[in-house]
Amino acid sequence: MSKPRIDIDLDKIRYNTRFLVDRLRPRGITVTGVTKAVCGHPGIANAMLEGGATGLADARISNVIRMRNAGISCSISLIRTPMLSQVAQVVDNCDVSFNTEMDIIASLAVNALGKNTTHNIILMVEMGDMREGILPERLESTVSQVLKMEGISLKGIGANFACLGHVAPSAEAMALLSSLAIDTERACGPPLETVSGGGSANLLWAFGNGATGKINNLRLGEAILLGTDPVSGHAIDGLYTDVFTLRAEVIETKTKANPLQMAFPVPSMQCVTLDSPSNARSILAIGLQDIDAAGVIFPAGVTFVGATSDHIVVETTNCQLRAGGEMKLKMKYSALSRGMAASDVAKIYRGASALAECTAANNDRPYSKLT
Ligand SMILES: *Cc1c(COP(=O)(O)O)cnc(C)c1O
Repeated sequence: MSKPRIDIDLDKIRYNTRFLVDRLRPRGITVTGVTKAVCGHPGIANAMLEGGATGLADARISNVIRMRNAGISCSISLIRTPMLSQVAQVVDNCDVSFNTEMDIIASLAVNALGKNTTHNIILMVEMGDMREGILPERLESTVSQVLKMEGISLKGIGANFACLGHVAPSAEAMALLSSLAIDTERACGPPLETVSGGGSANLLWAFGNGATGKINNLRLGEAILLGTDPVSGHAIDGLYTDVFTLRAEVIETKTKANPLQMAFPVPSMQCVTLDSPSNARSILAIGLQDIDAAGVIFPAGVTFVGATSDHIVVETTNCQLRAGGEMKLKMKYSALSRGMAASDVAKIYRGASALAECTAANNDRPYSKLT
């Protein structure tokens, strides 16, 4: 079977989604499955839907189109605010887009009107992550402008946490988002259908004892896919953390004397201080073009030495790997998202409905067949 490759267990994706959906339902929160790390792969998207996700969301219109082409007809949100150059595709393919810029909202409105339709938007509010978002004090005036527009329907408000800033949302921040939702409804009329509180970094808050207030949706990627909390990196109790397995092939193993300190000429090559002067070194046939080496988790007894565009070099203490052998690796989010996008990394699906889903998935390359 071709290597490098990522083995994907669709049953575990379905299970993780179901687990989160079932725990959030009593808190009044629905789950939107976020597919950006897996490039909108239709098989994975369907597994999220089978697990009870009420809709899907992706950051890129190309991924949304990929899901639409595979016949996925559920509500799909564009969660990266749209490019002005892509508003037509957004109106055509997305049920909802997340927005912060009046000019872009106006352009979405013109496009939707031209097609005799209405485009739904969620206004993103800046709550401290300092990535996208309207400043809270500007929300009310933005809302009233939006409500006057034809071709646009305001579906709700949302916020994002811990993406740029890596700070988990506090109870106070979530309470503030709730009160902004209440203020918006009071000032502008119609009740907001959706108050989308954030992503996987919000789960600690959502599973806590505090009130969830007006927040009725979370957009979950990492927790479903990797079973981990993006802020601490820790596994979330009850979730599978082995949905994805990366397999790379060994192309060289030799015992090489290390100079006491290795000075790597290129910043992307990461440096570790090797304590023993001559351990076995192996080279894996996968590199920075395929994977974010800093996001790869190596098995016990294997130490990362460095990576170049096509090689990863490791040192092994007690598990010599011969050329032709294989190393199984786990991935953090950054490695997963690059690996899933890399055309030289094959993807293999397992799970009860993998066969049916893969037929749809294989209609658009580079995803490889089932074995
Ligand atoms: C990526 C992203 C998410 C999902 O984040 P996870 O940490 O993977 O759950 C949610 N909302 C927005 C706007 C995003 O960009």
